[in-house]
Amino acid sequence: MWRVLKHFRRRAVSVTQQQVLEALKRVRSPRGVALPDAGVLSPITANDGKVFFSINVEASEARAWETTRAEAEAAVRAIPGVTMAMIALTAERKAGAAAAPAPRQGGVQPVSAHRPHQHQNPADSPMSRQAPIPGIAAVIAVASGKGGVGKSTTAINLALGLRDLGLKVGLLDADIYGPSVPRLTGLQEKPQLTPEKKMIPLSRFGLSIMSIGFLVEEDSALVWRGPMVMSAINQMLRDVAWGTLDVLVVDMPPGTGDAQLTLAQNVPLKGAVIVSTPQDLSLIDARRGLAMFRKVNVPVLGIIENMSYFQCPECGTRSDIFGHGGARHEAERLGVPFLGEIPLHMDIRSTSDAGNPVVESEPSGPHAAIYRTIASAVRDQLKDAIAAA
Ligand code: ADP
Repeated sequence: MWRVLKHFRRRAVSVTQQQVLEALKRVRSPRGVALPDAGVLSPITANDGKVFFSINVEASEARAWETTRAEAEAAVRAIPGVTMAMIALTAERKAGAAAAPAPRQGGVQPVSAHRPHQHQNPADSPMSRQAPIPGIAAVIAVASGKGGVGKSTTAINLALGLRDLGLKVGLLDADIYGPSVPRLTGLQEKPQLTPEKKMIPLSRFGLSIMSIGFLVEEDSALVWRGPMVMSAINQMLRDVAWGTLDVLVVDMPPGTGDAQLTLAQNVPLKGAVIVSTPQDLSLIDARRGLAMFRKVNVPVLGIIENMSYFQCPECGTRSDIFGHGGARHEAERLGVPFLGEIPLHMDIRSTSDAGNPVVESEPSGPHAAIYRTIASAVRDQLKDAIAAA
């Protein structure tokens, strides 16, 4: 029921929303009127040849709209200048309506933000509704309660640390609000498609990498509606030729809002790592992150304190300028593992920002050692899943 369109390439000229609407007028909807008049379209984003929108219908009607979605895809694709289209068919359950049957493969369940989630019974767990991704032993999330705490920097260095332990690792940048993997890796190109129309992840540092940033511009101000978020992420999870992986690290969007909750609930996660800075405020946010994963029965693998202390790049002296240690204390209090402390250091910033993260560029340095220690603590918790795959 949830399908997202593939992307494709053409020469880039600017495409307007009006052009998209004109093209969609030729697509008839199951309601007997032209698609733009059916009252089901989200706002259309047409950005530099890339077109995004969703068709929002009720769950019970979704099947009937699949053909319309495919025709809309063809119509948008035919517009000169379109380089990519991502069109989601989203089925939202009306409040109070009975749940739609769980999709068999690759499907997701809409989340109501306003209804408390009760998953005490393992049989109720949303995990049981999620199909695993064939070939991937463990999917883990790297999350933070708010932006700017170094979540993406941690995600990629953790992925590299896991790689250094001999694991086959993928990285999925699902940070729809600010995908940073293109910056962290220097990768810019669009993924190619297999003959089966699966996207081929880009390869860098021995990692298989996919980012929403490969599909949209890093700084484009896209407005993502909840259902579109999950459709796009689902496509990046399941319509990608990941091959065989021990671990897929998902760099989550920061925060604990509806989009994050939907993701946490619908991605088949084996666990989550929470990144926090020592400041009190960020710890409060981290607690929210913890609560979010617990709500959806995803095990929290631990907390990482980033920018934990300041390390002078010249003399190596350590200063606890932020009242360091808060995350360790908090982790103990909350009964989750404390995975480690990463200093605030110029080398971590400059290597990340230059597209060559510190575990890759300074493999025998002290920072790489810290990330590898954290990676092995994470790996130890995933051992069973990796061994069983
Ligand atoms: P987030 O994903 O939480 O928004 P980023 O990983 O993009 O955060 O990091 C934000 C900024 O902080 C980036 O410029 C990054 O290089 C820098 N940064 C992250 N962690 C560290 C660190 N431990 N030391 C120094 N700079 C860091």
